[in-house]
Amino acid sequence: MSGKAELSINFLVVGGGIAGLSCAIALRRVGHHVVVLEQYSDSDISKMSHGGIRLPPNVSKVLFHWGLERALRKVSLTSSAMEIEIYETGEFIGTHHWKEEVLRVTGGDFLFLHHAGLRQVLYDAAIAAGAEVLAGTTVVSVNGDGPRVTLSTGETLLADVIVGADGRSSIVQQAIVGNDVLDAAPYQSLFYNTTVPGALMRADPELAPFFEQPVETMFIWLGNNRSAVAFRIGGKDEFALHLWVPPRQKGLSDDDCWGGGLDLKEMRRQLGECEPRLLKMTKLAATPSRVQVKKVPPIKDWVDKHGRMVIIGEAAHPLPAGSLQGGAMAVEDAAVFARLFSHLRDREQISTFLHAFQDLREDRCASVVHTEHCNLYFQMMPAGPQQEQRDQEMRAKTAQGESVFGGGEASEQWEQLKELWGYDAEDEADDWWVKWGLLRERAKQRSLDMEAEMNIARLSCLGMRS
Ligand SMILES: Cc1cc2nc3c(=O)[nH]c(=O)nc-3n(C[C@H](O)[C@H](O)[C@H](O)COP(=O)(O)OP(=O)(O)OC[C@H]3O[C@@H](n4cnc5c(N)ncnc54)[C@H](O)[C@@H]3O)c2cc1C
Repeated sequence: MSGKAELSINFLVVGGGIAGLSCAIALRRVGHHVVVLEQYSDSDISKMSHGGIRLPPNVSKVLFHWGLERALRKVSLTSSAMEIEIYETGEFIGTHHWKEEVLRVTGGDFLFLHHAGLRQVLYDAAIAAGAEVLAGTTVVSVNGDGPRVTLSTGETLLADVIVGADGRSSIVQQAIVGNDVLDAAPYQSLFYNTTVPGALMRADPELAPFFEQPVETMFIWLGNNRSAVAFRIGGKDEFALHLWVPPRQKGLSDDDCWGGGLDLKEMRRQLGECEPRLLKMTKLAATPSRVQVKKVPPIKDWVDKHGRMVIIGEAAHPLPAGSLQGGAMAVEDAAVFARLFSHLRDREQISTFLHAFQDLREDRCASVVHTEHCNLYFQMMPAGPQQEQRDQEMRAKTAQGESVFGGGEASEQWEQLKELWGYDAEDEADDWWVKWGLLRERAKQRSLDMEAEMNIARLSCLGMRS
């Protein structure tokens, strides 16, 4: 049910990150004109990517469907397992293997890559599809009345729709909601993001085994208010290292920025008590970046009062930093959004489609954000009876030769995974169109027909009288 929109309109996308570039690709696929405004230059933005990103099957399948499978495979590795250890001691707790049939049913693969690699694949695809990406262009204000954006140069640009894909501290979100939602929320922990050179790890007998796994594996360390995740990334000889720790001591400013480079010593100081391999990895790591982990209440309005401006990606539903589904939700948003606008034939539909986008996405995103917070809590559970029970249950499963997370086809986990990974973003938009969009169109057509009949009747009455 794809195809080009009958009416092509102009979109201005604020932000050339994962959501913005995905949106540009998806909108070009259905025939709209797209200009992306990105504040950083191309060379700056690739230097600002400090780590790896995980793409679960629900997103890889969308990108494959857009024809990006070859490009993605070149810069990624396909994972099918995870291994759990205890953060403080390094004790091996167990493993979990994604069954082939699970991945087959979900229709995608689990990919590990560098954030810069993913952005480059999306950037190249957006340009090839005919989108214009204006790097080094900072938007300083937006207005749904127009709708228009003002750049730092003072220039004003007009469009039919403005899409705010400008991340966690979004000015489009602030224009819609009236305040900075992220800034107002307290943070519970800090996320450090870095990579470790593969050659250095292989040269160390304690770290070399990370490269000798029979299948690509994600390593998860469960700690007392701390956690780490590490995985090999494709396209580069590097290991990604994600670290979640408590905030630094009072008085120190934990200002956050995905792109900001930090002193490695700061990250090491934050490690706390940890097993020797993790300590070694952080000693060999590249410059990290630091981001605050926040629980932001769901944002009520994604669309402005004029029905011409909308937020997507992290601007609409901020996830805890380093989430598995962070990039995935951004790409799913883009897929649903563009699929709705593939049905555009009249400007009057714009506002309906923007509100339909929010209706279609807000529950799914809220549920994924909630799951990601629960996962993080599971990984960083404070020491105590609940944590002991968690570890004992996993140890018992391992002793019986089972996977730590179960995952047979009859299990609860399988049902949850089917829902999470089996979601098809474009099918959701098509369903909405068939159930509601077409109905609305027909109702509108019927009322137009009735109005026309009334006019004819009125005219013929007048004719009879004269
Ligand atoms: C530089 C950078 C590096 C990252 N590295 C990682 C990583 O290694 N691992 C990981 O899991 N996640 C990383 N992330 C986060 C990840 O991209 C997001 O969590 C997720 O993919 C959703 O993306 P998004 O496009 O909604 O937001 P973002 O990825 O935050 O993208 C928003 C974009 O909007 C641009 N922007 C913001 N304000 C303006 C403005 N006023 N005018 C013009 N442009 C503007 C930003 O420069 C940015 O490029 C990184 C994000 C950034 C920005």
